[in-house]
Amino acid sequence: MIKTLYVRVVLTFLVTIVIALLGATLLGFVVFERELNDLQHNEMRVAGENIVRAYEAAEVNDLDRFMGSVGPLTSYPIRVYDDAGNMKSYLGANRPDQAAIPPEAVRQVLNGEVYQADAKNDEVFIGLPFRHQARPYALFLLSSSKNEGTIVSLFLTVLLFALLIGSLCILFAAGYLVKPLKALTKATKRLAKGDFDVAVRVKRKDEIGALAQSFNEMAFELKQVETMRRDFVSNVSHELQSPLTSISGFAKAIKDDKLVTEPNRNRYLDIIVAESERLSRLSDNLLKLASLESEHHPFELSTFHLDEQLRQVVVACEPQWSAKRIRMDLRLPAAVNITADADQLRQVWMNLIGNSMKFTPEGGRIAVRLTEERGVLTVAVSDTGPGIAAEERDRIFERFYKTDRSRSGGGSGLGLAIVKKIVVLHHGDIEVRSEAGQGTTMTVTLPVMPPSP
Ligand code: ADP
Repeated sequence: MIKTLYVRVVLTFLVTIVIALLGATLLGFVVFERELNDLQHNEMRVAGENIVRAYEAAEVNDLDRFMGSVGPLTSYPIRVYDDAGNMKSYLGANRPDQAAIPPEAVRQVLNGEVYQADAKNDEVFIGLPFRHQARPYALFLLSSSKNEGTIVSLFLTVLLFALLIGSLCILFAAGYLVKPLKALTKATKRLAKGDFDVAVRVKRKDEIGALAQSFNEMAFELKQVETMRRDFVSNVSHELQSPLTSISGFAKAIKDDKLVTEPNRNRYLDIIVAESERLSRLSDNLLKLASLESEHHPFELSTFHLDEQLRQVVVACEPQWSAKRIRMDLRLPAAVNITADADQLRQVWMNLIGNSMKFTPEGGRIAVRLTEERGVLTVAVSDTGPGIAAEERDRIFERFYKTDRSRSGGGSGLGLAIVKKIVVLHHGDIEVRSEAGQGTTMTVTLPVMPPSP
């Protein structure tokens, strides 16, 4: 219970306010004691002078009776001394009289002087001289501890009220502070259980508001990551499922159908081999993408001739493009240097030229051009294939994205995602220009030397 933020805020406030009020009161007493005593002296002097004036005006014979009747009219206890050393005390308005008046003060007043106790002293009293029946008398007015007690109890009452009202305020204020934190804790628990649709509704603009805002952003991003993860798993399962289905289907057909003819058997085996290769390519591409996306993928820079690398890729693909009687048009200036990861770039050209060969019809044309301008190298791979519709152009770099046309083909939809990742790692860019039925041009721009990380 004590460990909750709510209780801690309330307790901290209470302790703080008690210390602050007590400290302020004590300090106030110390600092203003002199002023308070001065104030009391002035009041006592006025009261004393009024008594003396009333006594003179009344031409009193019985001093004792006079003082006895004025005593209760003032709030200060009264003492009267005569020159024979007698003292008579008259308690005003039930005030106790305990103050000690030094004999020299009495003597001084009997000699006709007004006496005022030092304001620094705890005892506060004032002595006024007067004469009765030609004899000197000293009238002393004293402050009582009850006067100070009243001031102290006043302060204590104020303190108690401040504490009471402050406590009530802090009970509400702490609730207001802690409420959004409780909501955040609840939302965090739901998030941990996989409910990504949590949104904390906090309209505040303070730190807690910022925390709630960050939490909502985090929940939104986690939801996106979760959606991507689910899509990924379902895409991979789908890509695995179709080759596995045909492999097992044709394998069963060969095994079960005793009457399967030799040419059919060979055709089924060819399909099984092709589907196995497709599975192998898929796992290869998945591994490549995962490696490129991990922060620790190998990235080995070397300087080599880009024109030479492009030529080698085209030559390696020759069996495929010549089988489709595709005309290969190369425009590569000599000895164009680049500093890059050679294996990764070879993968880029393989994928781009591979796609062009796959989609270009028999007798079509593929052009590979390399240009260099102000430290930027541009490689454009164009073909006379079916092109890509505008609505599909933005999506072809997504993982597993395939246009409907190529769904039945052997691709997994990972090739361009890998290309894009490698190009971005090299601080380059890739752009596609294509219209449906008009062929496609993929343009890769790369810096001659990637900027150091
Ligand atoms: P895949 O491995 O299936 O070819 P890619 O990521 O390489 O996957 O390509 C994604 C999609 O982009 C392909 O399914 C295809 O529809 C389209 N595409 C890529 N290159 C070309 C091209 N040169 N001509 C026409 N369509 C292309």
